Amino acid sequence: MGDKLGTTKTNALTDALEATRQNVGQRCGIRLILDQLDDADAATVTEWFRQPSISGAHIGRALTHAGHRVSTDSIGRHRRGECRCET
Ligand SMILES: [Zn+2]
Repeated sequence: MGDKLGTTKTNALTDALEATRQNVGQRCGIRLILDQLDDADAATVTEWFRQPSISGAHIGRALTHAGHRVSTDSIGRHRRGECRCET
């Protein structure tokens, strides 16, 4: 009985670890926003990321102003290619 309890606990934690890794690995906040935008807007935002003169904080404020909440950290990761986007 004690063994069964222990096994259940371990499996739950393993599941949690797997679920968290999937969320972190596959979900990029920028990709989620781009998917919501129409083609023209998505192209505009993609162009912002290519412009070194536009800071990540600036992009973040613009997206938030447009109703898309995103963190500057997400923008930085997306820009450096540290997310899982295929751009
Ligand atoms: Zn990304």
